[in-house]
Amino acid sequence: MISEMSDGKTKVQTLPCDHAQAMQRIDLSTFRGLLENGHGLDCYCPGCRQWAHANLPDLVRQGLGDRLIRESRPRCRKCGSSGEWQVRPPVPRFDGARWMQ
Ligand SMILES: [Zn+2]
Repeated sequence: MISEMSDGKTKVQTLPCDHAQAMQRIDLSTFRGLLENGHGLDCYCPGCRQWAHANLPDLVRQGLGDRLIRESRPRCRKCGSSGEWQVRPPVPRFDGARWMQ
């Protein structure tokens, strides 16, 4: 959606449902930042070779919302290895039929 402003400059508005907001600055460095931007967080344990899904709402509730992800390391509950974070971008909320239009 593009509308002309009174000073002659063109203002570009993006809809809330538009995922192509490349210029928008979003904070993905903290657990809260991921949660608020619809990202998920998984961690991989090299010891067990298994993936686990991080419960972001729970982490934020525990007061870890402002913790920098790269400065905190997940630790495996099974083997004690330190794991690796893997950020999961938001999944588009379109169903297959609408994608094909
Ligand atoms: Zn493990």
